[in-house]
Amino acid sequence: MQMTKPDAMAFDPAEIKKLFPIFSSHPQLRYLDNAATTQCPAAVIQAVDLHECQSRANISRGIYPLAEEATEAYHQARNMLAQYLGAQDASEIIFTSGTTGAINLLANAYAVDLKEGDEILLSLVEHHSNLLPWQILSRRTGVKLRFLPLTADGRIDMRSLHRLVTERCRLVAVTHASNVTGAVTELGPLIDAAHSVDAAVLLDGAQMAQHGPLDINALGVDFYALSGHKMFGPTGIGLLWGRRDLLEKLAPPFGGGGMVHRVTIDSFEPAELPARLEPGTPPIAQAVGLAAAAAWLMELDLKAVESHLYHLTGRLLDGLNNFPGIKLIGPSDLYQRLSLVSLDLAKVHPHDLSQIFADRGIAVRGGHHCAEPLMRFFGLMGTTRVSLALYNDETDIDALLLAIEEAQRILI
Ligand code: PMP
Repeated sequence: MQMTKPDAMAFDPAEIKKLFPIFSSHPQLRYLDNAATTQCPAAVIQAVDLHECQSRANISRGIYPLAEEATEAYHQARNMLAQYLGAQDASEIIFTSGTTGAINLLANAYAVDLKEGDEILLSLVEHHSNLLPWQILSRRTGVKLRFLPLTADGRIDMRSLHRLVTERCRLVAVTHASNVTGAVTELGPLIDAAHSVDAAVLLDGAQMAQHGPLDINALGVDFYALSGHKMFGPTGIGLLWGRRDLLEKLAPPFGGGGMVHRVTIDSFEPAELPARLEPGTPPIAQAVGLAAAAAWLMELDLKAVESHLYHLTGRLLDGLNNFPGIKLIGPSDLYQRLSLVSLDLAKVHPHDLSQIFADRGIAVRGGHHCAEPLMRFFGLMGTTRVSLALYNDETDIDALLLAIEEAQRILI
């Protein structure tokens, strides 16, 4: 998908950085592992802290004021996330433990309904979180998994879409943006093809969610999964958004307190959405923190952030292109990718390279990034991944490029 080229705007990452306590306790840290986890601004940490200090109680059941306060805070958190996603109906937001939790929830719910012969279409670029839940479902039900192939630079190749989206296809589940190549998925043809055979579309939004609010209805998908810790929020929280009519059709795959109207010893009547899909005590303080992260993101000048990230990614790509022996993974066009870059340094294992970076205070990720089929496609054991966020600046990029120069001297 081609992103629009934003106008260059002034942006001061130094000011943003001050809002993140981690950089006060680690002043030398060059944190370039934002695709794994972003850091938390003080606003998020304080929201969680305040909730735990002043409003902590279990939700929905107690009728004393503190319980009502906690229930209201959880309810308001859901409303804020609905706003972030552009969902009109907050009960379409199901809080989960993260993207992995959301996709497993959906896969388990689909397992009740699907039968042998049905098909689910994935792609070869998927994170294991959007592959293994469907493999497990396939083993349980006999559902067939099919895979969209990739172009040479690792984008989902839409040319075989019409052959692969058959009348038996019930769900197309792909990533919104790859955690390895940074490529943003072209959605239009995919959604049209899926809907033409009444298949639903799930997007794995783990990497996209940190880039600002969505207009979920305009996207045209049916389900969306994301993780709080990748959008400046707490760990242990994420969500599954679904179109209300589809969520209502899902049989709750997991049971427990809080998700029922009536229970006998041999049956139960599930509650309304969203409670029916959220059994047990939910991550209440984490939801409050995630809502604070969404609110914080919505306050930013996101055009300026985008322009800053494109500038840094361009500087990084230009710098890397000057090194002999470095292969860049993913689209060469800056505007087809997010602010993350995977690279392969010939003859050097990504762990060795990451260690050289770590010794210089630079945090990056080396390995298969939970995308082994994709690594096999590229014929690699792993890559070294540099992923940027709004608090990074040119000095981070330059330090990384210098470290690569040193790595080439030491390791090759
Ligand atoms: N999908 C993608 C594209 C990811 O990058 C990740 C995290 N690396 C996940 C899914 C899983 O997210 P989580 O571990 O937060 O559930």
